[in-house]
Amino acid sequence: MYFSELQKLDRQYIAGTYKRAELQVEKGSGALCSDLDGHEYVDFSSGIGVNSFGFGYEKWVDAVKKQLDMLPHISNLYYTRPQVALAKALCERAGMERVFFANSGAEANEGAIKTARKYGADKYGPHRHEIITLENSFHGRTITTLAATGQETYHKNFGPFPQGFVYANPVDIADVKAKVTENTCAIMIECIQGEGGVVPLEPEFIAGIREICAEKDILLITDEVQTGVGRTGKFLCGQHFGLKPDIVTLAKGLGGGLPIGAVLFGEKTKDTLGFGDHGSTFGGNPVVCAGALEIVNAIDGKFLDAVTEKGNYIAEKLLSMRGVGGVTGKGLMLGVDIDEKLVPGDVVAECIKNGLILLTAKNRLRMLPPLTIGYREIDRGLGIFGGVLSEMLDRPEEPEGETVD
Ligand SMILES: *Cc1c(COP(=O)(O)O)cnc(C)c1O
Repeated sequence: MYFSELQKLDRQYIAGTYKRAELQVEKGSGALCSDLDGHEYVDFSSGIGVNSFGFGYEKWVDAVKKQLDMLPHISNLYYTRPQVALAKALCERAGMERVFFANSGAEANEGAIKTARKYGADKYGPHRHEIITLENSFHGRTITTLAATGQETYHKNFGPFPQGFVYANPVDIADVKAKVTENTCAIMIECIQGEGGVVPLEPEFIAGIREICAEKDILLITDEVQTGVGRTGKFLCGQHFGLKPDIVTLAKGLGGGLPIGAVLFGEKTKDTLGFGDHGSTFGGNPVVCAGALEIVNAIDGKFLDAVTEKGNYIAEKLLSMRGVGGVTGKGLMLGVDIDEKLVPGDVVAECIKNGLILLTAKNRLRMLPPLTIGYREIDRGLGIFGGVLSEMLDRPEEPEGETVD
């Protein structure tokens, strides 16, 4: 099937919720993928931070195939080995006590929100149900996680929303303090706001949040859906700040390419959800868990140091490029400020034409390469990126507005 035909059928039969790039990806290996005509692309997106061990990571493929042959699904009414093994590995890596498995980031956050509310209700009464989240945050697309998301643009036309979410300013700890009431059960943060534009929270702000939570028995929820599982050079981004959250949510990079979400519970919350309080038909599916276990097991100290080194290398090279004004983020989660003459979406489209896949996040470009990417592919990707920026900056400016003659 030709690209044009596929595009036509996609537009006819698939809900129009995505602005797709002019690219049909056919297959991939490591940090490279290719289209129907065999054109190669360096992948600086990892499927939005999902297949973070690249395409076709051998141990993951083998584990998934083996489990698929043995037992693809049975439900949570029975014990299965991969689910328990993954939960144990996650708790050990993250310094947490227990896990609930879901199927996506939004679902993991739903589980976190339910847990926080139940903790508040059990201990203080049903009035204690409010959750403070931050302006410019992103927590998912379900109605409740949209309510938790502190960005108006996502809310438009989808109300009414569940009550009990209060948004605080992400740089002003006094504003967070002012929004704490006797109804507050939790504060939910992303240490680096991902969809919000790769915006890291200040260490002092994070320390302030931790203090407020400790002082008032308010639960700290860290949404590590994008930042977790090694992306920033630690297993959890919160570990850069010595955080010990009461609830952590994971998804994107955890499954190695298959859908999974996880809610991790700390000492305070490990017994909050009991029999019948929550559930999922697919959550903790043995195939997905067997794959995820290979990912989690492969992330040790040496691996994480390599992620940090690659991130520093990329940031340094970017900062020396014409058209780059600054770099944000940590490890292999990077935001790039570009010359204001350039439109981020146009740069992405031009990069794709030249063989590099990358992302935008608000007004920045966003790079989430596979954590396993080699320096050769890094240099190849950065070469394309630098060339595209230069070429676009040299283009004669288009006349502004409509010209009538
Ligand atoms: C992507 C993302 C989500 C939503 O995850 P889905 O799997 O798309 O539901 C939630 N929180 C953060 C921080 C994310 O980056």
